[in-house]
Amino acid sequence: MTASLSAASALLATLTDRAPEGVWSAPGRVNLIGEHTDYNEGFVLPFAIEHRTAAALAVRDDDVIRVASTFSDEPVEVALSELDAAIEAGGLDWAAYPLGVAWALRAASTEGIARGVDIAISSDVPVGAGLSSSAAIESSVASALNDVWGAGLDRVALARVGRIAENDAVGAPTGIMDQMASMLGRPDAATFLDCRTLEADSVDLGFEAAGLAILVVDTRVEHAHSSGGYRERRASCEAGAAALGVTWLRDVSVADLDRARATLDDETFRRVRHIVTENQRVLDTVAALRADGPTAIGELLTASHASMRDDFEISVPELDLAVDTALEAGAVGARMTGGGFGGSAIALLPQEKIADAAAAVERAFAAAGYTAPHIFTVAASEGARRDA
Ligand code: ADP
Ligand code: MG
Repeated sequence: MTASLSAASALLATLTDRAPEGVWSAPGRVNLIGEHTDYNEGFVLPFAIEHRTAAALAVRDDDVIRVASTFSDEPVEVALSELDAAIEAGGLDWAAYPLGVAWALRAASTEGIARGVDIAISSDVPVGAGLSSSAAIESSVASALNDVWGAGLDRVALARVGRIAENDAVGAPTGIMDQMASMLGRPDAATFLDCRTLEADSVDLGFEAAGLAILVVDTRVEHAHSSGGYRERRASCEAGAAALGVTWLRDVSVADLDRARATLDDETFRRVRHIVTENQRVLDTVAALRADGPTAIGELLTASHASMRDDFEISVPELDLAVDTALEAGAVGARMTGGGFGGSAIALLPQEKIADAAAAVERAFAAAGYTAPHIFTVAASEGARRDA
């Protein structure tokens, strides 16, 4: 049993004498490539990581839902009959994630759900690091409640539930990539997702067989999706799409970019160019992985970073330094991952260069006077599951 599973069980035991119904867990994710394409109905290629959030659950006699996290001192409780009003009123802080999931799941289910539950949550996914601790908590709680409430939703429907919770209960206007990655992850594979149709295809990564590994540099610059920059980028994409006569930038191709340059102001053009070229890079990455294996994707990763840095302008100096230093240390490719404005960078490195690259990044951060980063490797892992 991993540390977060036993911590969730231990926390549940402090809440109730009732026997646990079970423990469910769901992973964070790294997005290999395809950034800010999800809400443009484009393509993404994330993979689930070993870091997971666990939710232990016990049923109650009444209709109260109570959530607790090792993250916070105070459990939060609401009667299910009052849940709509509580979500509407807001101010739930972290509890908006699990309670939002309960609320969205009830709305999505045809069952009249009124059975109270205690839920205890523990996680080893770094928070606010761009590794989607938010999707991990949503997917673990959604999986647990789906089973215990007998809601009968499939994995894609549970991903939608997580997104609705994040958009409408938490108030963060994110796309559905993270939840899909957390629900559908497979060992040693990435999830190639068409965000228009939600069609998902598993793509073998083969990193280990090729002698490669992904190094994550968590810059510890915290981002917040519910704040400014993310919303602004979404608005630019919508404005760019409207000016080009489409609803979604998915429907603009690389060949259309000359026309876009003539139509749009410089900033909007660069935002659009990022999305359009990034969509193409996702398709090219999938093709390269399938045809030639993971060593062939390095340049696409690095080009993605340059596009986010220069055109979409969502990188920060810490992320650029992590990427540049990893490349100098022999990375095949490197890029920031996640929504930007902080969070983590990833570097695809030959295994024998991992230790030196990590040390080089540490030195570079120290020399620049930045907070010491958290550096670790990740491997593609299994999605949401029942553990006990
Ligand atoms: P990221 O998904 O990149 O980690 P977000 O800002 O999207 O960052 O989500 C982080 C938020 O999710 C936290 O601030 C907290 O409110 C909530 N959260 C994540 N994990 C937990 C947890 N284990 N317990 C309680 N809340 C959590
Ligand atoms: Mg998140």
